[in-house]
Formats: sequence, C-alpha cells, structure tokens
Amino acid sequence: MRVRHPDGQVFTFDAGALCLELSSVSGGAGMRARFEMLHAPGDFVRWAFASRLDPGAAGVTPTEVVVTEEDLALVKELREAIWAGAWALATGSAPGRAEATVINRVAAGPVPVPQIGPGLARSWRRPVLAGQLTALIARDAVATLTPPTSTRVRMCAADNCALIYLDTSRPGNRRWCSMDRCGNRAKVRAHRSAPDRP
Ligand SMILES: [Zn+2]
Repeated sequence: MRVRHPDGQVFTFDAGALCLELSSVSGGAGMRARFEMLHAPGDFVRWAFASRLDPGAAGVTPTEVVVTEEDLALVKELREAIWAGAWALATGSAPGRAEATVINRVAAGPVPVPQIGPGLARSWRRPVLAGQLTALIARDAVATLTPPTSTRVRMCAADNCALIYLDTSRPGNRRWCSMDRCGNRAKVRAHRSAPDRP
C-alpha cells in the first residue's frame, strides 16, 4: 500500500495482513489522529479498494459498496481494537479481553457472498455492504493476532515510528516499516557513523 506521511513523504508499506493495513495506516485515536484517512463513509470505500481487501478483484465497483455513518463508526471501533491488540503483541504482551470482544463481535457478522459470474468469473453478490467488508477485516484479525502469526506482529525498529506489521519474511527478520523510509534512514545513519577507513 502507498502511504502518505503527514511530513509529505510517500512510501510503500506492506502491513503483511489486512487487519494491520487498517490499524496501522488509516489513522486512529490519539497520536494516530493526524494520519486519519476515514473522515466520511466514502473514505472507507476508497481505503478498501486500495487495501488488500480489493473488492475490485471480485468485480465490484466502488458505487456497489453501501456504507453509512454507523458502518464507519464500527470500522473505527474495530480499528482501535486491532491497534490495541497488535500493540500488545508487538510490545511483548497479549491482546486484552476488551479488544478480543470487539474483534469477535464484528467477526461474527456476515461476510461478502461469493458468486459464479458470467464467464465463470468469481465475484461477490451486490450490493456489498460495508459491514461485510468489516467482518472480513475482523476475521483476518482473529487469524493474525493468534498463533502462529501472533509472534510475528512487530513494530518498526525506528525510535520515532510506530507502524506495526506482520513479518511475513521467511527468516522472520524484518525490522522496518519500509525500506523507502525508516530502513533507508537507518542505512544512511549507519553509513555516516561508520569509522573512516585508513
Ligand atoms: Zn518505520
């Protein structure tokens, strides 16, 4: 996903999981408020099409997704629960009961209905309701925030960066949100502080 930081830099961030794409990138409470992308219901549709949820891959167009103010409020409630759960894992503890309760409640909702379309194209029944997409995100959170992937929920190693991702690298040694951003800065710093060679 391409992310625009408030400082103006645009960089590629692979959250590694759909639920973390929502909680890390789309804004949130507290210090994450300045990253807020979801101001109005239509913003959630735009976010969904840019995310790995990608309803477009199921033949859905943005106008076929129904989203209300209540839907947006639920997305934000889920986002905070995922954030708190992911933060707990990335800092060495575990998601609390309150977070799990929100995630479980949303995950229990109906998800998009798969259909066989013209030319055997797989698609979703229209209209697609925002709540169905939200339920998919919550189900992804159940899968991501539990073993075996829960041990791979990490925070960017840069001091001033709190982006949380699922490390899907085979050796499990990913350290940065993005090589375009914090990884590159660390490389430059290491280079500057390297002793001069004779
Ligand atoms: Zn970072």
